[in-house]
Amino acid sequence: MNARQKRSKKAELAKEQGSCCWWCRCHLPLHKLTIDHLKPKSKGGSNSSENLRLACFECNNSRGNSLYPPERIYKIRS
Ligand SMILES: [Zn+2]
Repeated sequence: MNARQKRSKKAELAKEQGSCCWWCRCHLPLHKLTIDHLKPKSKGGSNSSENLRLACFECNNSRGNSLYPPERIYKIRS
């Protein structure tokens, strides 16, 4: 995805999911959110909306290529 595609994809996701992190539920302005792949691209995940979620940098970064939610959300929620 190029920068423009990412921007429009983010706007699309924000409309469906709200402008917040899918994992930790923090509300952030769109430009601070990243596009996270539920199934990482390196594991065959697609760029379709079903596989994409908005995530804050910390969550996206801590997930890396994992198939599982970032560990930090368990610490935040407990
Ligand atoms: Zn988050």
